Amino acid sequence: MTAHDIAQRYTQVLERIHQAARRAGRNPEDVHLLVVTKGQPLERIQAVVEAGARDLGENYPEEAVPKIQALAGLPLRWHMIGHLQRRKAPLVVRHFAMMHSVDRLRIALRLERLLAQEGRTLPVLLEFNVGGEAQKHGWPAWDPNLWPTWADEVAQILDLPHLQVQGVMTVPPWNPDPEAVRPYFRRLRELRDWLARRFPQASWHHLSMGMSHDFEVAIEEGATWVRIGTAILGPRPGP
Ligand SMILES: *Cc1c(COP(=O)(O)O)cnc(C)c1O
Repeated sequence: MTAHDIAQRYTQVLERIHQAARRAGRNPEDVHLLVVTKGQPLERIQAVVEAGARDLGENYPEEAVPKIQALAGLPLRWHMIGHLQRRKAPLVVRHFAMMHSVDRLRIALRLERLLAQEGRTLPVLLEFNVGGEAQKHGWPAWDPNLWPTWADEVAQILDLPHLQVQGVMTVPPWNPDPEAVRPYFRRLRELRDWLARRFPQASWHHLSMGMSHDFEVAIEEGATWVRIGTAILGPRPGP
């Protein structure tokens, strides 16, 4: 992966995002690209930033912070997209612009306390498990009958003054066929619409869904944030 390859792939992905949005009758400006840099060396991240990327996503704060520090001074927004352990929460409060993966009440309460101490707010998305896989995080959402079971927890999170809930996020079951993933994207959108009716006081604008191999289908189903790593930066080098 040379810097030239990465710039070219970045431009191609942007073009595919625009085309998918237009096909779906949507405004391409409503779909934001998050470049997922987990497991990628600094040179590749610098290349994609030079190509124009401003929103970067990481799963592990302890892996992200050295990169964030190395690129300090550039106008970047770092997004936390992975399951967050309580003891790593201070790193998110200190270094990240947004968190897509608030997946339980306890972590929301922990973030709220730290944010209050720092005197800052954090835009967040709530993560839902739409596929029912045991290893995936988020509130159980594969069956609409389950939704009322955690509605009270969502209500508590909406009351936290330093968390700005802006929508929902999911990581659906992996399938090489993007069409097989479409029902999960649709389910998240239906869930978002349900939340918007139930909690009209909050903003539910954002749908964070779609990765390298299925982002066009996600856009057709309403994604406002697509999280793309390997399609732009190439395969993550092994440890
Ligand atoms: C790794 C990751 C991505 C990006 O995956 P690619 O297949 O490399 O595009 C997106 N979202 C989350 C939550 C991830 O962990």
